[in-house]
Amino acid sequence: MAYSPELERILKEKGIKVGNRVRVEKNGHVYEGLLMPRIEVGDEKTLIIKLDSGYNVGIKYEKGVRIEKVGEGKEPGKIPRLKIRHNTELPDVVMIATGGTIGTHVDYLTGGVYMCRDPEEILFMAPEVTEIINLKKALRPFTLASEDMTPDEWKTLAKLVAKELNEGAYGVIITHGTDTMHYTSAALSFMLRNLNKPVVMVGAQRSPDRGSFDGAMNLICASHVVKSDIAEVVVVMHGTTNDDYCLAIRGTKVRKMHSSRRDAFRPINEMPIAKVWQDGKIEILNEHRKRKEGKVEADAKFEPKVAIVKAYPGSNPKIIDWYVDNDYKGLVIEGTGFGHVPTQPLKKEDSWIPHVKDAVERGVFIGITTQTIYGRTNPYVYRNLRLLNEAGGVHLEDMLTEVAYVKLGWVLGHTKSMKKVKGMMLTNYAGEITKTSDPRSFLY
Ligand code: GLU
Repeated sequence: MAYSPELERILKEKGIKVGNRVRVEKNGHVYEGLLMPRIEVGDEKTLIIKLDSGYNVGIKYEKGVRIEKVGEGKEPGKIPRLKIRHNTELPDVVMIATGGTIGTHVDYLTGGVYMCRDPEEILFMAPEVTEIINLKKALRPFTLASEDMTPDEWKTLAKLVAKELNEGAYGVIITHGTDTMHYTSAALSFMLRNLNKPVVMVGAQRSPDRGSFDGAMNLICASHVVKSDIAEVVVVMHGTTNDDYCLAIRGTKVRKMHSSRRDAFRPINEMPIAKVWQDGKIEILNEHRKRKEGKVEADAKFEPKVAIVKAYPGSNPKIIDWYVDNDYKGLVIEGTGFGHVPTQPLKKEDSWIPHVKDAVERGVFIGITTQTIYGRTNPYVYRNLRLLNEAGGVHLEDMLTEVAYVKLGWVLGHTKSMKKVKGMMLTNYAGEITKTSDPRSFLY
């Protein structure tokens, strides 16, 4: 944060930068220490000095105050990097950093939070990783918080991962913001065809300045999973609120289920693929594809004109018309329960059925998921569901809404034939549809 323009000018004239050691004299008192940036809510004209005792003082700049630079002090925001030691006896792994809390660094000098850019900066917090894998390459295609990502970034990642795996990496670790990590894991699950090695996504719910930082353990567990024979896109995060083990969860069956808990990522409708301990123990709990020879293909064609729409009491079905009028090619409607939308309401105009019918007639695919998250849609139980079905809505088994959205974009990137789109949406490509939802997985 900058000081007032006047104060910034004076600092500039004297060649003083934040982090420099300064001497300030006011009313006969002398203060010496490091010049801090202004705090966000602080007064623009109050200099903040970190004294040698570690305490900060605020000194209002007014007539008679003298400030001089007495030393270089420290450079703020310089993020420490791990000097990577290579051990070629360990499997070669490529690490891709994209952004998010796992890659933040809190500068104790200024209190500022910086986004780490390179994997070497992130690994500074988990040097153990280099004793588990050999970091073949550290890449940073972009640095974005995960809420700022788009399907374009999914494509970039898919192409990068396929290239690295085909060029010999034993597996890939991707560090990612947690908020939309399950969208990216689903996208990579569909885009990486013939995947034959692990692609492990990992993040952190708590920042590294906190005692409860989870990123180091998550990275250590991710390093064990990337060495395993789990040839799938998986998310590896804390399994409990303690630091006991992590879960490796299939990329199409995982969801962030809590805004802040460290064990926020849970498997939905199936068991996690494995439990993973920091010492390298892995307990397999579910079926998974195994490592094998061959080439991975990045099939990243994607139609971005797809959207999620939520049906709820009082919702306005004209939202569907808006999407159709704006040339959208497919919608995922998150319905209630088994996959209902308002069908025979007291006010006829509240019914979604004519709008669904019209969208389908105009060539827009309408998929239906459920907002219950757990369980599956079932178009046969009630008459209302059959009416939605007759209007052309396609119930998407037990696919998560987010996964259905990503899959629909991917499918429509390949064909616009509604018959083929329906067939592909109901075909299991990456574990996104299970035949029966595993009852043990509920609130797992
Ligand atoms: N909202 C940010 C993101 O998802 C930071 C949160 C996090 O990484 O957990 O990238």
